[in-house]
Amino acid sequence: LGLDNTDFYVLCGLALAIGLYLKRDTLKELFMSNDDDITISGGSRDIVEVLRENGKNYLVLFGSQTGTAEDYAKKFAKELAAKFELNVMCADIEKYDYHNLNELPSNVVVSFFISTYGEGDFPDGAVQFEEFLQNAESSDLENLKYTIFGLGNSTYEFYNGAAKKAVKYLDQAGSKIIGKFGQGDDGAGTTDEDFLSWKSDVLEVLKDQLHLDEHEQRYIPSFKFEKLGSIEEKVSLGEPSLQYLPCNKLSFNDENIQLGPYDLHQPFVAPVVKSFELCKGKERSCIHTEIDISGSNMKYSTGDHAGVWPSNADEKVKDFLDIFNLDPETIFDLSPLDSTIKVPFPTPTTIGAAARHYMEITGPVSRQTFGLFEQFAPNEDIKAKIAELANDKSAFAKEIHGKYYNLADALKELSGENKWDKVSFVFLIETIPRLQPRYYSISSSSLCEKQTIHVTSIVEDFPNPEGGKPVVGVTTNLLRNIEYAFNGKDNKDLPVHYDLNGPRSLFKNFKIPIHVRRSTFKLPSNPSTPVLMFGPGTGVAPFRGFIRERVKFIENQENVKLGKHLLFYGSRNKDDFLYQNEWPEYAKKLDGSFEMIVCHSRLPNEKKVYIQDKLIEREADVLGMINNGAFIYVCGDAKGMAQGVSAALVDILSRGKSIEKAEASEMIKMLKTSGRYQEDVW
Ligand code: FAD
Repeated sequence: LGLDNTDFYVLCGLALAIGLYLKRDTLKELFMSNDDDITISGGSRDIVEVLRENGKNYLVLFGSQTGTAEDYAKKFAKELAAKFELNVMCADIEKYDYHNLNELPSNVVVSFFISTYGEGDFPDGAVQFEEFLQNAESSDLENLKYTIFGLGNSTYEFYNGAAKKAVKYLDQAGSKIIGKFGQGDDGAGTTDEDFLSWKSDVLEVLKDQLHLDEHEQRYIPSFKFEKLGSIEEKVSLGEPSLQYLPCNKLSFNDENIQLGPYDLHQPFVAPVVKSFELCKGKERSCIHTEIDISGSNMKYSTGDHAGVWPSNADEKVKDFLDIFNLDPETIFDLSPLDSTIKVPFPTPTTIGAAARHYMEITGPVSRQTFGLFEQFAPNEDIKAKIAELANDKSAFAKEIHGKYYNLADALKELSGENKWDKVSFVFLIETIPRLQPRYYSISSSSLCEKQTIHVTSIVEDFPNPEGGKPVVGVTTNLLRNIEYAFNGKDNKDLPVHYDLNGPRSLFKNFKIPIHVRRSTFKLPSNPSTPVLMFGPGTGVAPFRGFIRERVKFIENQENVKLGKHLLFYGSRNKDDFLYQNEWPEYAKKLDGSFEMIVCHSRLPNEKKVYIQDKLIEREADVLGMINNGAFIYVCGDAKGMAQGVSAALVDILSRGKSIEKAEASEMIKMLKTSGRYQEDVW
């Protein structure tokens, strides 16, 4: 035919255009509604109008980054409806405009649930709300009555920073707070108890101010559950979003085309191209996974996070279905009973797919959630036991949390052979949060490997101290199962197993859903700026990316003088020293501008040494680097390590500059505020 390259590409483009045209209705639907917006309020962003049209008399608004604030908001909304028969609208702040919040009817109270992200920031979806509040004038919100619960972590400098700012701005705009300002502290592991104590206080005040009658909680479903007969193309079998359903799939030359954009609402199903065990100790192993994002149009830059979308393990799915006597093959559809509510995951689907792919069925069960099951107890004895435990904080801590029970384990412990078959599946959908992606600090550099994301994950798996089943994390065990399959290893001794093929074989050949989350954890743009890095354990992940970036940078440039890059790294022993073969190679290439200081905390017959100890040993160097404008980066454990490093740096500054500790502490704070001291901790 004599086609040249240009002709060929033009023909391909035409064929694709025709394909897209033929699927135009599907595409329109997909673009107009990502899964997150499946049903909400006919698209109106006018919050007062939506509230009025749906006959609601209470508003709960959440700003959530990873789903925790959303989860608490929904629990609170459900309880208000169940105890006081209020018509509660629970909504994501991102989905509405708020210019007329002051025009809400005078009997409507707004309860805010706001999580804090990064350096005291609002969640991404609530940034415009922050701007709105910040710019509000003194009487702009004077009619607004609100309650507020912030979700934060006291190991961070700006603990509950976003909720604190919200309270300040609301106060300035004339709004009136009802009850106390609640603050949940994930750092102390007390979010649940903080919420319960805040809630009991606030409900008393609300009862009084709104003249509410309280009665025994009665579950009122928010969705209509409808059984369907057969699996058709539109039935989700666990696909991460609507675009992956066969009825919406686009293909070209027999290749499936994924549409995007890919973000927290919709992942890209990406192939794992390499996976190996970085270390395998008696107690823990660490998996290195390389994921190819070519064709996704997703970009990452060094220091960003990868969101990995897990599914639940076979054993956990079985326990869950078993305790509630659920048939995994049941096909169902859900429709919201009013237009302010959204379906939490793609439907129609099957009960088995929901339990495996969409619901957070493992992990510790909260006392509040546990108490809700009282109304469905198989008999009066079990009902009494549930009530007793749910009302006794320390008994619950000992009997349920102390034994590392998840929901199914806890209910089974109480009921023995009795099934919890009075629990409706809609109640479970409404009570159990959606399975969330887990984040990993990317350990590759976008300068070296543009299209490949490296993830370094410690497998969360430890023996149950109380002698029960091992305590396992969802995602890290999935990554370990992929590593085993990828390298043809026998997985029978692993504590949990997964369906690696996924829904309709979507994950076949080692694919995994992922998205990229931007982070502010970035190297200074001037390569001559000195860099201090603190990253023990998997905290070293982004620093591997940083150093690979610097190596590539000097390979590409001539006559560049790099500033000193000093990395403090710690591991338990020599076996779990991550990427130990790579570092000397990097040091050689960076020719003296990179130095790594290593310590171990569990070498036999040797004193435990932590990175903070090493930091003090190198006090003079560290001080010199800070005086020369060094950028400081800390990554890894938020509790002990990050605080320890911060305290050691305060000591060093105080001694080196002969100033009071308080002043040195202020200097560290300033470095944090100005972005010269950055933390990526979890
Ligand atoms: P989950 O299922 O989330 O479980 C969490 C923990 O709870 C596990 O330790 C598990 O054993 C335990 N658990 C499970 N069931 C119960 C129960 N019933 N009772 C009590 N405990 C239970 N991690 C890395 O390894 N590398 C990184 O580079 C990395 N970077 C991160 C970056 C950021 C910004 C953040 C926020 C986190 C990062 N993490 C990283 C942590 C990571 O996101 C996950 O939290 C971690 O891997 C555990 O995920 P999982 O799904 O395996 O465990």
